[in-house]
Amino acid sequence: MSSAAGTLRAEGIGKRYAGVVAVDDVSFTVPAGTIVGIIGPNGSGKSTTVDCVTGFQPADQGRWWLGDTELTGRSAHRTARAGLVRTFQNVRAYDEMSLLDNLLIASQERDGVGWRRSLFGGQPVRAAEAAARERALGLLDTVGLAAKTEAPALALSYGQRKLLAIAAAMMARPRLVILDEPVAGVNPTMIRHIEDAILKLNREGIGLLLIEHNIDFVMRLCQRVVVLENGRKIADGAPDEVRNDPRVLAAYLGKSRDAMGEFRHD
Ligand code: ADP
Ligand code: MG
Repeated sequence: MSSAAGTLRAEGIGKRYAGVVAVDDVSFTVPAGTIVGIIGPNGSGKSTTVDCVTGFQPADQGRWWLGDTELTGRSAHRTARAGLVRTFQNVRAYDEMSLLDNLLIASQERDGVGWRRSLFGGQPVRAAEAAARERALGLLDTVGLAAKTEAPALALSYGQRKLLAIAAAMMARPRLVILDEPVAGVNPTMIRHIEDAILKLNREGIGLLLIEHNIDFVMRLCQRVVVLENGRKIADGAPDEVRNDPRVLAAYLGKSRDAMGEFRHD
């Protein structure tokens, strides 16, 4: 089957940890250039699903493709090279280094020694470095951190670190970015900043898969929503369909009435 170049298609993903079924036969598609959400209670298998398709954990079952390129079994590094990158639930940054240097390091880490050639098509090194710098500055502007370019990462708030992680993921010029809990533990003002950054990137043609606990955020931003419970997919559709799906309501009701209240808008 042929797909648009940036489309992520995952089929039958399965993963166990020492007998615990973390992910069980999960399939989903993120059409090129769209924003899709994966929601589900804590421990439902969201991060593990993402770990598998981004090469950070070996899947026990399943196959996945970006466009027509099969990525099944590829390392994280080669997955990023193919255009699929992710951020982590726990943000990582080099605290002592400036935001600009964090982004320059991110692009080197992702692409290894060949990063200059791979990113900039064999340009001379100095031109390649200048191009990386330009890109980093542009991304810091996009995520609203331009004023802190030279500040050390430790000067950032928790929410700003999430923005830095999004910018770092973008250094590899991905087609699709997976964000693991981009607004967890972030205050409402900062949630709006993160939302703006996501929408800006999406307008530039980047597809996004958002793993989130904040259901309102997911429902606002996503064209499609996939719901996991106990490692299995229980719903997959437009936000309005998913929001009123009895199985989804039951999954959230089982966990917390507050989550349910936030979730349902009729
Ligand atoms: P979510 O991201 O939806 O909160 P996870 O994918 O982190 O869920 O976890 C799914 C299940 O797999 C949970 O039961 C969790 O305890 C288990 N799990 C996740 N990572 C590991 C690991 N590295 N080792 C053992 N069990 C794990
Ligand atoms: Mg998780």
